[in-house]
Amino acid sequence: MRRARSGHCATTVSAEQQPSRQMFPKMVPVVTQISRRPQCPLSGKLITQAGYLYDESMNDRIRHVSLSSVVLPLDHPVSDAKVLTGRQRPMTEIVLLFAEIATRDDQHGIGFSYSKRAGGPAQYAHAKEVADNLLGEDPSDIGRVYEKVLWAGASVGRSGVATQAIAAIDIALWDLKAKRAKLPLAKLLGAYRDSVRTYNTSGGFLHAPIEEVKERASKSLAAGIGGIKLKVGQPDSRMDLARVRAVRDHLGAGVPLMVDANQQWDRSTALRVGRALEEFDLVWIEEPLDAYDAEGHAHLAADLDTPIATGEMLTSVAEHVRLIDARAADILQPDAPRIGGITPFLRLAALADHHGLQVAPHFAMEIHLHLAAAYPREPWVEHFEWLDPLFNERLETVDGRMLVPDRPGLGFTTSEQREAWTVDSCEFGIR
Ligand SMILES: [Mg+2]
Repeated sequence: MRRARSGHCATTVSAEQQPSRQMFPKMVPVVTQISRRPQCPLSGKLITQAGYLYDESMNDRIRHVSLSSVVLPLDHPVSDAKVLTGRQRPMTEIVLLFAEIATRDDQHGIGFSYSKRAGGPAQYAHAKEVADNLLGEDPSDIGRVYEKVLWAGASVGRSGVATQAIAAIDIALWDLKAKRAKLPLAKLLGAYRDSVRTYNTSGGFLHAPIEEVKERASKSLAAGIGGIKLKVGQPDSRMDLARVRAVRDHLGAGVPLMVDANQQWDRSTALRVGRALEEFDLVWIEEPLDAYDAEGHAHLAADLDTPIATGEMLTSVAEHVRLIDARAADILQPDAPRIGGITPFLRLAALADHHGLQVAPHFAMEIHLHLAAAYPREPWVEHFEWLDPLFNERLETVDGRMLVPDRPGLGFTTSEQREAWTVDSCEFGIR
């Protein structure tokens, strides 16, 4: 017998279960969890699952999962309308949950989920509780593996923090699958295009004076980004209209321009301001109302010529189906990390296409670029540079479009800086 120890955890490996180095030359001892905080042992579960690595199957098996919680500081505090209406504080950081998966055949995948202002530790804690369900599974069986991990934590619900936690795992599985196929994820999924229309959001927040917004808009366009989004939804809508007019005058008539009220209007304000905005020929009005007000959005979509976009705050496919059924939006804005990963995103994309909707996925361009490229109807992808310090690669923008990288998988590796910003980590399985 051999006892492998790690931190506060220990488990036992029988002689028959000990792997031979000939079969698996990179084998190192089975570990339970390694964390900067004390952990509970996994009571022998790993020993059984490690046994799967040596079954008669030709299929690859997941041998190791690591999770990390990363706190990314922003350059300066960021405010949208939720801050100006007093509902939230300015945002100073983003907390990311990274999942990394390795297989017996030494294939690797990485995915991430994220939270803003609160929820990061909860996502990490939930993922830590369910991650050992992956060990010994065939990484190709994403549908089945997804269901297994989802149901492992289903008593706290199949939306919200629970699905956001497993989103990082699901995205890592898709990254792994595409890397194994030596294809960019967009091509594995079946791309319709090699680039996607893109617009910048990070330059148009409400903490920035209008002169700064105009300057950053010009820089974005010069950098090959195609459109500009402005935050609106201030308590005094005259200030919103003045900012939109200033930027439209600055950019000229031909530049795609969007606005985003971040759910801060009531129905009558949204209709009144929406009518006033018609003259600016906007690509869309985003989140004019509470994210769950499907009926209100449907009225607006019917009453205004400007398309209505919403969906970023929803945390499951089922919630999006309510929007679709109510005909609440012309453009859906799903967020793969928020609705549980790429697997549910693809289900939602099929529904959205069936109903003739456009999509403009929210945030996380590193993931959504691939998903937008594989959507039948010409989509938009949202440009934010906020996550750049976490990765070694940069996405290219040319002639208003973001280019799908030709690197396999999602096409990114994480930076040394990401290591420095890691506040907690744990691992499962065999290194
Ligand atoms: Mg938005």
